[in-house]
Amino acid sequence: MNITDLMSRLGVDERAYASGDLVVETPIDGAEIGRIALDSAENVEAKIAKAQNAFLAWRAVPAPRRGELVRLLGEELRVHKDDLGRLVTIESGKILSEGLGEVQEMIDICDFAVGLSRQLYGLTIASERPGHHMRETWHPLGVVGIISAFNFPVAVWSWNAALAFICGNPCVWKPSEKTPLTALAVQALFEKAAEKFGDAPDGLSQLVIGGRETGEQLVNDPCIALLSATGSTRMGRDVGPHIAGRFGRSLLELGGNNAGIVAPSADLDLALRAVCFAAAGTAGQRCTSLRRLFVHEKIYRSLVPKLKKAYASLSVGDPLEEGTLVGPLIDQGAFERMQYALDRAKAQGGQVSGGEHVGDTGYYVRPALVEMESHDGIVMEETFAPILYVFKYSDLDEAIALQNSAAQGLSSCIFTRDVLEAERFLSATGSDCGIANVNIGPSGAEIGGAFGGEKETGGGRESGSDAWKAYMRRQTQTVNYSTELPLAQGVKFEV
Ligand code: NAD
Repeated sequence: MNITDLMSRLGVDERAYASGDLVVETPIDGAEIGRIALDSAENVEAKIAKAQNAFLAWRAVPAPRRGELVRLLGEELRVHKDDLGRLVTIESGKILSEGLGEVQEMIDICDFAVGLSRQLYGLTIASERPGHHMRETWHPLGVVGIISAFNFPVAVWSWNAALAFICGNPCVWKPSEKTPLTALAVQALFEKAAEKFGDAPDGLSQLVIGGRETGEQLVNDPCIALLSATGSTRMGRDVGPHIAGRFGRSLLELGGNNAGIVAPSADLDLALRAVCFAAAGTAGQRCTSLRRLFVHEKIYRSLVPKLKKAYASLSVGDPLEEGTLVGPLIDQGAFERMQYALDRAKAQGGQVSGGEHVGDTGYYVRPALVEMESHDGIVMEETFAPILYVFKYSDLDEAIALQNSAAQGLSSCIFTRDVLEAERFLSATGSDCGIANVNIGPSGAEIGGAFGGEKETGGGRESGSDAWKAYMRRQTQTVNYSTELPLAQGVKFEV
């Protein structure tokens, strides 16, 4: 785990992480891997002002040319995928294939954004007045602030930044204080791409290092036209009203309490594998991790013992080692919150399998499966750890209602081979989440779809589909190419 070599190949000078108040530790064994200087409030202000200046130039660059910068960024990411993926694993603790997968996701969104840079279409609209035409045009919005969480330390930035850049906006990024090294590396790769591009305005992409207060500065600065904030619902509850108070735009990607339903006709082997990945993978530290499972009573006894067996055999350990499926929790706080949740589940009558600490260094845990009868109390909270609460159900409508009773509405799934059940689940009276899957777990979304969720997940959508519209301002334009002045709705006003 030679950080200096890795960082140097990624283009980051050792001095950038050699001293400062922010101490960075790897969750793999708790070793210190860097020290970074925090940005003062004045620094943050200056960076936002610089980004605002960059906006004035960048908004006038044709969108396909802006796409060229994102294409170059994608190239840098391709070249440095192995190093950046490894760094993601070292800093966040996710297993190496997921670290690499996260960088692949960055490459994918860059490709998507490059294509999109020639497709920022608006509508033409039939005017009710003779000699007039109407159209809808999408213009660059302004500086985009990005606040990201530790568990997707780089992909979340790219989902936002790739779209923001092609839409004509600069970005100011505040990464999680738990994962600043990967952010330094991404910024260095961006700078390489910008150098090859040639005339990107100075300050188009900027990094601000800090904790909650730095985030709050982005929230409160009127130059931040859109703030995309990814993190806990607690954070969103702070951020949302403040942005609304200054009539800014927010894109909130918050917590989830995701559920799955295993119906009697399901392919149980497929369901078992999907549940293990979704609930135990990434050590339960995905916003889309599976946290509640409703198993039909007819198959409960054949599925749940197999699940427990699979859980007991999951390899927990060093995420850099091949064969490891479950890496460490991010820190001691995450471990304590997991143990607290398991204690509460037990007090509610839950039967816990797993959940214990594994190994001597770091916060490694065996994923926990908890058979529960009461769907309340701790079950209604998102504990950011590998805990799967399992319930028996007899009626699909009842299972869907319980699934939807969570405060969050991020992701959901059903395992079934019955088309009526699948369609029922996907219908307007089915899952109330932003993501609904059939025969796939709730986690591991592709970039092509709009990503995000309802209710306490915040309502934001980013990445694919038409999520780009959040990064632009819509203008309705009406042109009169006649010599008359007819008024809309037949209003007469002769002077
Ligand atoms: P967190 O809320 O503790 O921190 C997230 C980010 O918000 C950090 O950069 C932090 O410094 C900043 N922040 C915290 N309070 C703030 C405030 N008051 N004002 C401005 N910024 C503030 O979350 P975390 O522990 O890093 O990540 C885990 C959480 O993120 C989980 O709840 C998970 O579900 C959620 N998450 C959601 C998505 C999604 O797309 N919906 C993706 C990843 C993670």
